[in-house]
Amino acid sequence: MFSYRHAFHAGNHADVLKHAVLLAILQYVCQKEAGVFYIDTHAGAGMYALNRAEAQKNREFESGIGRLWSQNDLPPQLQAYMTLIRELNPDGVLRRYPGSPCFAEKILRSQDRLRLFELHSTENRILSENVARMAAHAAANGQKSSGRGKRVMIEKRDGFAALKGLLPPPSRRAVVLIDPPYEDRQDYRHVTAMLADAVKRFAGGIYMVWYPIVQRPEARRFPEQLKRLPVKEWLEVTLTVSKPAANGFGLYGSGLFIINPPWKLREDLEEMMPGLLSLLKQDASAHYDMSTGQGKLPVKNRDDD
Ligand code: SAM
Repeated sequence: MFSYRHAFHAGNHADVLKHAVLLAILQYVCQKEAGVFYIDTHAGAGMYALNRAEAQKNREFESGIGRLWSQNDLPPQLQAYMTLIRELNPDGVLRRYPGSPCFAEKILRSQDRLRLFELHSTENRILSENVARMAAHAAANGQKSSGRGKRVMIEKRDGFAALKGLLPPPSRRAVVLIDPPYEDRQDYRHVTAMLADAVKRFAGGIYMVWYPIVQRPEARRFPEQLKRLPVKEWLEVTLTVSKPAANGFGLYGSGLFIINPPWKLREDLEEMMPGLLSLLKQDASAHYDMSTGQGKLPVKNRDDD
């Protein structure tokens, strides 16, 4: 069940898209003073060493973050993302790539809360160590306390089951990242069931689902299932970097489905995606798509009532 380790994939094209958009969303929500709950249902290890055996096996980061690392004229929407990664690699050599909890920890403020779920024992332990390291670093620099405790909580629990207990959050402001491995085909069903329940409990949250573009039938049906959720607004962005491999295996793109996207996100992605595509494309079939829409709301929740 637990064969997935994100360390093999850290910094690949899908991570670049996911983390650049996550960072943009977190920056938007931090423009308001009120505290935000950041919930990461599948948090991973928090930080990845790109010189270790896992990352070196297929060197997926080379066709992801590796393509952005040496660029000086990135689209402005990617500047904050790159700045954060450069800060983690201060000697100018790309050795470390942050996971979603690290991006969130860097951007979120003392009034915000991070709730991180990671079920894999080793990943959970490494995540705890990484959060402790960030706390020590922040303390040494006189910055906000980021250690475990009230502000950051890490639990070794099933993120699919845990979400309902946190909604609605006390501040009525939440960003939820849902990023399961999808190696188990049941993950697709679990995401839609969890979201259907979550939006009933807290319709106003920002929910971002990452999903793979692969040849599996469940993956191909998934975006349409997400679009049938009873939500007010959604934004979907996909980045396909190549045509599928001849053997039908492998990740050749990824998508993000965002419920209640911040209002300026679409405009920013329209400016960012052409540049990101040209940086990450692997063959002539590479392309991106973006669409927005409204879900099928129960009649009582519609604006026109
Ligand atoms: N969100 C991370 C990031 O962007 O850096 C990457 C997460 S990785 C794609 C998925 C993680 O989910 C793996 O570390 C895996 O161990 C963990 N996982 C798998 N099933 C889980 C579950 N039911 N609840 C919580 N974590 C789970």
